[in-house]
Amino acid sequence: MNVADSQRVASALERLGYQPTSKADQADVIMLNTCVVRQSAEDKAHGRLTSLRPLKENRPDLVINLMGCMVGVMDNQQMHERYPFVDVFSPPSDPVPLIDHLLNLEGKETVETETQSRHEIMDDELLLPQREQGRLVSAYIPVVYGCSHACTYCVIPFRRGVERSRPINEIVVEVESLVSQGVREVTLLGQIVDRYGMDIEGSPGLSDLFSALHEIDGLKRIRFLTSHPNWMNDELIKAVASFPKVCEHIEVPIQSGDDEILERMHRGYTSDDYRRLINRIRETIPGVSIATDIIVGFPGETESQFQRSYDLLEELALDVAHLARYSPRPQTVSARRMQDDISAEEKMRRFRALEELQAKIADRINAHFVGNTEEVLVEEKHDARWKGRTRTNKLVFFESEADLLGELVKVKIEWAGPWSMIGAPVLND
Ligand code: SAH
Repeated sequence: MNVADSQRVASALERLGYQPTSKADQADVIMLNTCVVRQSAEDKAHGRLTSLRPLKENRPDLVINLMGCMVGVMDNQQMHERYPFVDVFSPPSDPVPLIDHLLNLEGKETVETETQSRHEIMDDELLLPQREQGRLVSAYIPVVYGCSHACTYCVIPFRRGVERSRPINEIVVEVESLVSQGVREVTLLGQIVDRYGMDIEGSPGLSDLFSALHEIDGLKRIRFLTSHPNWMNDELIKAVASFPKVCEHIEVPIQSGDDEILERMHRGYTSDDYRRLINRIRETIPGVSIATDIIVGFPGETESQFQRSYDLLEELALDVAHLARYSPRPQTVSARRMQDDISAEEKMRRFRALEELQAKIADRINAHFVGNTEEVLVEEKHDARWKGRTRTNKLVFFESEADLLGELVKVKIEWAGPWSMIGAPVLND
């Protein structure tokens, strides 16, 4: 989501006449986008922000913009006091405060621009920001902003505000514009993306959005994340199976394998519900790959409760598990009412145990790919090799002299590890 938000700001800045630079001390404007989903992310954001302070002291005309969940949607008076060297604070997904600030700056005529109004700059037709190498092949598209679910550990609803879906036509215009600039794959984003449309007129669903996007010539793949188990209904699962451009990959977090923890997380399902969902997904979508998220060390998580997460992960053998160590977040129910009583060492031990288990599972699953020919969408050149992904979101590297950026290439897999694969392109027969 932050990658998509940053891209939108970069696009608006380019419309204003700015150019990208990779050197912070040469920049006229620096926007730092931030995540605070865990304490470690917040610490990192704070560190980066503090490191920008000397630049501002040397060059007072430098504009520093702090964006994202560190700012949040609430009143940010406190942030002004804490970071007085920041010129503009912007909520997540909102480029407007920065654009307005730049438009209002005295001497803005030094920036060459034909489009002066905010409206023109914030056009739905996203202009892809320049890249240092090649064009962008795969783009992230926010389709639902914010979140109105109240998982007790999660800060996102407090920082990104209530759930807001974007209308289908607006998304279609944006994707058409991206495709005309060379994009071949889009990933539709939402905190609970399978709730797409429920808050807007006509209550379209994700499958209606698939159907509209499917028509776009030149768009080759559609992905979406993240799904909540309660909203992954049969209609959506069938849609994934039936639309050829929609890839067979589902991101659907379980968070814990223990029912009492799930209840205290306020997730709204049991481990058995999740099991049944995984079975339904696997029965309906042949060859599907599935990713999950698990938090270890939630307040009060006993050894046997942790063991249930371990056992479930082992039983379900999913392709990917994003693992996190619990950290209390401001305003959340778990931070206010539950004690963060699992030690850092113990959280690390549980994390490592799951990590090791998942490495074995992924290794075993991916080993089955060796010898197969997979369709790979080539996203970029990485050192001397092309890098792309299979429909099931597996990372593949291969060598070729040809310019294959943005192409769908058949690749025969020769080696597979838990996190990536290596293969050779299959020549047209
Ligand atoms: N709404 C999306 C993204 C949530 S944030 C989703 O449901 O997937 C991504 C992941 O961070 C979550 O799935 C969860 O596993 C983890 N996470 C969220 N809050 C956390 C916290 N307080 N401590 C540790 N991990 C957390």
